[in-house]
Order: sequence, then structure tokens, then C-alpha cells
Amino acid sequence: MFKFWYKNFSHIPVHHPDFHRVQLIYHLLLFVCVLAGVVTALNVFLLNAGLIAVIDAIGFFLALGIYFYFRHSGNVAVAGWAVTLIFIAVLSAYLSVWGGNNFGIIWATVIPPIAFFLLGRSVGTLLSIVFFSYATYIVYGHVQAGVRYQLSLGGILNVVEVLIAQIMLFRFYDRTRADAMAELQASRAKLQRLASTDKLTGINNRQQFDRELMAQVSDAQTTRRPLTLLLLDVDHFKRINDEHGHLFGDRVLKELASLLSTNLRSHDVIARWGGEEFAVLMPATPITTAMTLAERLRKKVADANLCGHSVTISGGLAGWRPGCSGEELLGTADRVLYRAKTQGRNTIVQSED
Ligand code: GH3
Ligand code: MG
Ligand code: MG
Repeated sequence: MFKFWYKNFSHIPVHHPDFHRVQLIYHLLLFVCVLAGVVTALNVFLLNAGLIAVIDAIGFFLALGIYFYFRHSGNVAVAGWAVTLIFIAVLSAYLSVWGGNNFGIIWATVIPPIAFFLLGRSVGTLLSIVFFSYATYIVYGHVQAGVRYQLSLGGILNVVEVLIAQIMLFRFYDRTRADAMAELQASRAKLQRLASTDKLTGINNRQQFDRELMAQVSDAQTTRRPLTLLLLDVDHFKRINDEHGHLFGDRVLKELASLLSTNLRSHDVIARWGGEEFAVLMPATPITTAMTLAERLRKKVADANLCGHSVTISGGLAGWRPGCSGEELLGTADRVLYRAKTQGRNTIVQSED
């Protein structure tokens, strides 16, 4: 809406801390221009209130001046001060001329949300206190003098205008709060994803695997359900690197990770354990079943063509036993993996203890 009124500044992109301030400055200037314009006309033609019309007209031209200054300079600090001060100046003039007639005093309530948002907590508090003191002083003077306030059509206008302004300000506040929360959640999710993912292959990294292993071991400890760990290592991977280069080796690792992942069950957990080593955690799986799954994986890899290359893997399987820690399970799997290597590679060996 009113797209022509808003201008985006390249130095204040959407995620910049000042972005919402820019939005509020434009909203308020639009609000003041429209309101002051309409109220000036009403005061001149309908209410016959010349002085109030002059105050409103000054407000209108001041707001327009700040608008063009801001559009041109993009200076949020200066525009923030200017918008807040113009509100304070116009309202002060209005209150001193019109006093409490037509509920004019309720305009004072729009100062804190504007001053806090545009100038921060400290200055916002200070300006609000100063302005509220002034408003209280005026009311105090009226009480002392026994002034009786007058009510006319302007009273309805004041009430409606201030209530609309407050609803808009609160909507704005809540939107900025919701936006900030959504942004925070998105960046937290992104950070969590980055912290648990291996950059090259996109599967879990070692830290995430350690967390999964601890959780699964403690789960097995309570439920006494079987748990099997498989460590896989690419055979003679160094040769692939030596013959085709490190980048080619990286592509092979990526394809291998994706092949392994797609051939696992949904509840198995795979991770890149180290350079060309992968770890697979098979919850609720006895070692005999795990052996069948591991053999199937080994065959899939041996039969596959990874980046036009034939690659084989060796694996070590270790079954969890009551009282066994995650590290012990890993140590056992590593020992049997070594046996698979010494037995000629392209084979899976399971622990017997
Ligand atoms: P083995 O069958 O005994 O496992 O032989 P191997 O050559 O695979 O074993 P070795 O541990 O000697 O070599 C592993 C190689 O993996 C050495 C290292 O350069 C390579 N490597 C480790 N991480 C990466 C990686 O992220 N990218 C690439 N391209 N190579 C890696
Ligand atoms: Mg290795
Ligand atoms: Mg290897």
C-alpha cells in the first residue's frame, strides 16, 4: 500500500537493525501528513478554529519537509529525532492553546511508543517523562483555575484519531517483535544445522554422531534393546586421491555418503566419522540383522559406479552389551574394522565378544 511513499535504502536492508525504524518513520510521516492535512481542512471549513488549523498546517508542512529530507539523506538518527520532536512540538502547542478541551490530553499517550521506538529506551524514557510532566502541569493549572473543559465534534475526532494511532502503533510493535523472533528462530535453526552437519557430504558430523551415540547407549541401557554400531572405511582411498586429485576424492566421498544414506533404514543414523570413514548407528538391531544390512551396503558400494570409479569399503560391526559405554563400542568397532582390512578389504567383520 502507498508504495510510492516508501523508499528502500541500500545501506538499510531488510535485516538491518534500523529497518523497522525506517518503516515507522515513513508510517508516522504519512499518518501526520494525512491527518494534519484533513484536520486543517476540517478546522478551517467545519470547526472554524483558525489557530488550531494553523498548528495543524505547520505540522503538515514540517512532516512533509522531514519526509523529503529523509528520502534524500536516509539518515535514520536525524529523521528519528525530527519525527519525535515534531510530534512533541505540535502536541505541546496544541495542548497549550486548546488545553483539555475535546479530550486533547489523550494525544500525550502517543509520545512514548514513538520516542521509545525511534530513539531508544533511555532517550524515550526521558522525553516521555518531560512531555508527561508538561501535560500534567497543564492539567494541574486547569484544576487550580477551576477550568471546565468543552466538548464538541473535535472531541470525537480526537478520541477516534488517538485510538486508531494506538492500534496502529501496537500492531507495528507486535509485528517487529514477531519478525525479530522469527528471524532469531531461523538463524538458530540454521546454526544448529551447521553445527551438526558435515560440510562436504551434508550428512551428520562427528559431534552430532557422538550426541546420537550417547543418547542411544543410554536408551539401550534403560530399555535393554539391542544396539549395533558399524564403522566403515573406504579401501585404498589414498590411491584415488593420488591418481585423480583431492577434489575428485571429495566428489567420490559425497556420492558415497549419498549412496550409503539412501540404503539405510529411516531410523539408522549415519555420520561422517573422519576423512574417508563413516559410522552407522543401528538402534533396536541385533548384530546378526546388522550384519545382513552391512553386507547389503558393502555390495551396493562395490557394484556402484562412484564418479566413474569402482570403490570398495570395509566395515567393523560391534554389538552393544549391558554396561558398555559409547567409547567402548567405538573401540570395538574400530578393532574389528582393522581386522577387515587385514583380511583383504571389501569385507565386513563383526565382533565376537
Ligand atoms: P585403507 O584401505 O587402508 O583404508 O587405505 P586408505 O588409503 O584408504 O587409508 P589411509 O588412511 O592411508 O588414507 C586415507 C586417505 O583419505 C588419506 C587422505 O588424504 C584421504 N582423505 C581424508 N579426508 C579426505 C577428504 O576430505 N577428501 C579427500 N579427497 N581425501 C581425504
Ligand atoms: Mg581411514
Ligand atoms: Mg581407507
